[in-house]
Amino acid sequence: MNIMIPKTRISFDDALACAREGAITRDAARTLIRARDGREFDSLMRAAADLRDRLKGRAVTYSKKVFIPLTNLCRDYCGYCTFRKDAGQPGARTMTPDEVLRVAEAGARLGCKEALFSLGDRPEALFPEMRATLAHLGHRTTLSYLAEMCRRVFEETDLLPHANPGLMGRRDLETLRETNPSVGLMLENVSERLMTEGMPHSNAPDKRPALRLKTMEEAGRLRIPFTTGILIGIGETLDERIDSLFAIRDLHERYGHIQEVIIQNFRRKPDIAMRDHREPTLMDHARTIAVARLVLREMNVQAPPNLADDDYPFLLRAGINDWGGISPLTRDYINPEKPWPHIDALARRSKDEGFELKERLSIYPEFAVKDEFMSGAVAARVRSMADERGYAKASKTGVI
Ligand code: SF4
Repeated sequence: MNIMIPKTRISFDDALACAREGAITRDAARTLIRARDGREFDSLMRAAADLRDRLKGRAVTYSKKVFIPLTNLCRDYCGYCTFRKDAGQPGARTMTPDEVLRVAEAGARLGCKEALFSLGDRPEALFPEMRATLAHLGHRTTLSYLAEMCRRVFEETDLLPHANPGLMGRRDLETLRETNPSVGLMLENVSERLMTEGMPHSNAPDKRPALRLKTMEEAGRLRIPFTTGILIGIGETLDERIDSLFAIRDLHERYGHIQEVIIQNFRRKPDIAMRDHREPTLMDHARTIAVARLVLREMNVQAPPNLADDDYPFLLRAGINDWGGISPLTRDYINPEKPWPHIDALARRSKDEGFELKERLSIYPEFAVKDEFMSGAVAARVRSMADERGYAKASKTGVI
């Protein structure tokens, strides 16, 4: 006869003590993320904020960027995505080189320093129309067109490209690193369960966790500063959130290249498959950030302010030290209904919480001052744009 042995969890107070001693285990993190409102929640937030203050200080960073949606065609169908389009669908669009450069130049005039390229994953694998568009542009793959556009933005403007194109192989990463001081790929979650029928990644072959971890690992081998993160509230369990944070931490322990971990909250939109799915609450978002801080320790933890509406300053109390990219020019194409706060307002609200808002480049300060993470023209450009501590030098133009 099988005897079911109940799973015991470490107590909340013991888990918090582990975390405060810098020895958080997976089991302790699984307990902490279940912090109940009241004393447990408050003490979790305090521990995370104390650790952030001790390791990162009271500065909160952001990057002034323009958003370049190179193509919104995508071969995946993530249940929460409002960005993607099929070829021929109203709004489906691939930017021409002239359009890309026009947006980049307008951003540079406003003092932006980052060109964030966001795009669908491998649309040419699904749509003959995309293959024809790429052929017309002189390319076979979207990633090769992206590389050319990154090169032109790097050479013809003052912006630093930061590519976020979905899965990348070693060769793609090698090419992109010639013009990108950093690149990005959201892990989303390590759960294979989210790929099964009825789940948000059931028709999204590029969201297979093993493939995403492989891209991140390849970037580590190549010493490329890497932005990643998790998306919460898409049907994952609390334990799967913890497993995802530990997977990111494990990669960073091996390669030291994860420059930023975004804790992004799912937001409902009328035109997505998950339009009736419940959104995570602010408290749920905050306790996930707090546990992320305790797991990731000195790593940079980011939350997008526009996805927390007017409550965003509260997330500073959970232990973040970065607000991500903020654009004075282009909207958030991934969450078009949620405008970014004005940079002046972001500075004022951060100051009200006791934080100084500081501008960084697309590459984080601690990576911008290390030669091993950059080479050639990229290193020279970053050095000319960064101060001695690696933050962005003050803009000559366009104080927003
Ligand atoms: S989230 Fe990214 S991969 Fe998924 S459908 Fe949207 S654009 Fe494609």
